[in-house]
Amino acid sequence: METSNPPGAEDVETSVPEAPEPSGTVIDRSGHPISRRSVPENVLKVLYRLHRSGYRAYLCGGSVRDLLMNRTPKDFDVVTDAHPNEVRRLFRNSRIIGRRFRLVHIIFQDQVVEVATFRREPERAIVAPEDAESEDFLITDDNTFGSPLQDARRRDFTINALFYNIADFSVIDYVGGIEDLRAGRVRVIGDPDLRFREDPVRMMRAIEFASRLGFEIEEATYQGILRHRGDILKASPPRVSEEILELLRRGWSRGAIRLMVDTALLEPLLPEIYNAIRVDRVPYFWKMLEVLDRTVQAGRKVSDAVLLSVLMLPWVIEEIEEEEKRRAATGRMRIAEVILFIRELTQPLCARMALAAGTRHQIEQALETLWRLLEPPTERRAQFRAVYREPFNDALALLELYALSSGRYVDVFRQWQAFAQRVRRAQEEGEQVTKTTRRRRRRR
Ligand code: ATP
Ligand code: MG
Repeated sequence: METSNPPGAEDVETSVPEAPEPSGTVIDRSGHPISRRSVPENVLKVLYRLHRSGYRAYLCGGSVRDLLMNRTPKDFDVVTDAHPNEVRRLFRNSRIIGRRFRLVHIIFQDQVVEVATFRREPERAIVAPEDAESEDFLITDDNTFGSPLQDARRRDFTINALFYNIADFSVIDYVGGIEDLRAGRVRVIGDPDLRFREDPVRMMRAIEFASRLGFEIEEATYQGILRHRGDILKASPPRVSEEILELLRRGWSRGAIRLMVDTALLEPLLPEIYNAIRVDRVPYFWKMLEVLDRTVQAGRKVSDAVLLSVLMLPWVIEEIEEEEKRRAATGRMRIAEVILFIRELTQPLCARMALAAGTRHQIEQALETLWRLLEPPTERRAQFRAVYREPFNDALALLELYALSSGRYVDVFRQWQAFAQRVRRAQEEGEQVTKTTRRRRRRR
């Protein structure tokens, strides 16, 4: 049941008498598969202490969704009706973070548990009807406490708005998330037009969740993306780039980029790349993402520079080929020319994506070195120099992905791979020799 006086009631507008809040569907312990055994001990400790101190304590967001699907959550977030200062007082090992919306981090030896206070949708700027297209829908103020229902409703998708209540081990559903989870649907909470305009990154998140969970995007949500895809340019570029990097890093890029092409959400964002890969112009690209997804899911570390270079590769290759055609009279471009060309081509895009200077440099280097590898030097010493250069590993990873998915340059890749292994082995043996001689010397 809702308390008549939700926390932060002083923040809630009082001019309109509030109707009693719907209480949400409660699925008791026997009706769902979430077991406390799959919740880390530290998280349970936090939930129990809040509960015993008289507060509500719920697990929320991705953790409830993933536990219901028998997946391992990335992190376990807690929500409560205790205010940040009250949470802070309950846990000595905690600190308040954030300026706009204050959260509490409870710090354990090997884990940080994040505790938030129920929040409601922030006030929206009053918008005159003729201004309905203006940007004033973007959320600017994010700091108002609310009730559990309000907290569920301000979340992005129904499947992300479920609560697990430590008081009785039930799941609370205010938004129809359980049904959507069962049906495998990503559905925006509330009016898609409004929710996508408030925060255009939600369009990317819808696509990301559909791809990673193998869900479909519910029709109104999908149509909303088609209508508002242009608004993605209003989102902050670093946040958008981080979303793109995340889906590459976590191994669900193929489905997600496919959906970003199908909905054309990618077009306003990265038109160069969109044009290069749309309507199956380069079949190897999708294969390459498939291989990449498998690689990172298997736990192999792939640098951000390689991930982003993969995305740029079909475009860069096409542009170089075009340029070579233009220069047909003078023959193929020399490597120095290719390098300059790549630099001038990719830098504006990297700047637009607001990538860190280091990442931009590494992308440039990875792509340049890839082109160097495609034409292996015949001279042995030059080969050694290539292997010892910093970006060699990135370029080799890129070449591997490209060769295995396009069927081109497979021999060149194998040659470099074998060569790099020989060099590495020789290096290790060299280190071994130095270590033993040092030891011998010390003994004497
Ligand atoms: P992951 O497993 O990738 O962490 P998640 O669902 O936990 O997935 P987070 O980005 O960690 O996603 O966000 C935690 C929760 O916060 C989400 O489940 C959702 O309820 C809410 N949330 C996150 N981003 C938004 C957003 N842009 N708009 C509304 N709610 C959001
Ligand atoms: Mg999360």
